[in-house]
Amino acid sequence: MSRSSVESQLVEFATALVENSGGIIDWQSDGSQATAIVPPDLAESLGQHHESFLVRTQPGDEGLVLSLGGEFVDLAARTLRHFVPSVGAFAVDDLPVRKTEFAAAVESSFGWQNARAKVLDGSVMTVPYHAWWFHVTLQSEETWESLVSVTLNARSGVVVPLSELLSLGDLRPTKDAPSDSSATLDLALHVAEAETMRQATPFLQRIDARRERDRKRLQDYYRALQRESSTPNKRTKTVPTAEEIESRQKAVKLELQRKLSELDERYLFSAVLRPIVLAEFRIPAVAIDVEIQRKAEKRIFRVYWNAMLKKMEPMSCSRCLRTSFNFWFTNDTVDPLCSTCHGS
Ligand SMILES: [Zn+2]
Repeated sequence: MSRSSVESQLVEFATALVENSGGIIDWQSDGSQATAIVPPDLAESLGQHHESFLVRTQPGDEGLVLSLGGEFVDLAARTLRHFVPSVGAFAVDDLPVRKTEFAAAVESSFGWQNARAKVLDGSVMTVPYHAWWFHVTLQSEETWESLVSVTLNARSGVVVPLSELLSLGDLRPTKDAPSDSSATLDLALHVAEAETMRQATPFLQRIDARRERDRKRLQDYYRALQRESSTPNKRTKTVPTAEEIESRQKAVKLELQRKLSELDERYLFSAVLRPIVLAEFRIPAVAIDVEIQRKAEKRIFRVYWNAMLKKMEPMSCSRCLRTSFNFWFTNDTVDPLCSTCHGS
């Protein structure tokens, strides 16, 4: 990821943070600097002495500096924790509350490939969604950083595209403690890892290319040394014996192996995903129980119709956890499998 896209991500994040915590933020046309005006308690949470302050993408003497390296991530985490965990006040006029309506929604959304499905019941309820933000650092010869966010239905563990939740103006803060977060953290980490690898592909390719180049240089250098070890000494005009050549070549080969393993060590990279914040959003949904029959076995699954997305949420594959609307089921345990896991 280029420097500028991390920057624009931070700008977007900071704007949503300020606007959804009761402040206003006004960016200059070149996007390098903004003026924020916020309530006193929010200013304090962001480490500012005045209710009006500068927000900038480059280090400066005053104001809030948006960077992954500085204190911004911790200030943002604190602020999100205090100001953002919220209850969504969303319009729910067109919830499919009649059985024929939600049965039709399930039928038109899902494909059950080797099983029979019967929609049993549906009930309107408020479902907690957990939006996790991770500060991701990949460290090798150089460092790559990013913010990765993952939103899950805390009941089903299914990943849903609710990243735009933060930009909704219609949130009502609640004092309730968030529901249990340990289960969604593990799932969110799993998804964030995959997302990190996807985002970091150019960085990882660059590191790989550099390692290959260094390997080749080492190999070329030691190949030249090996050739030299069997040629006569120009100064003393003596020709090395066969044993001498062999022992020199062996030494060169060992040295090359040592250098190559040093090189591999230098290019090892470590990845750290630090959860910086969890925001919980409670959204009305219809929880629908579906009975799946595979041969003689039956099992009931709960799926959700999301009132914000206004559609069914997918289910997760029992093996790879990827979400899908198309499933096969195993014989005895009636576990759902996606097309990839079913095919393998
Ligand atoms: Zn799968």
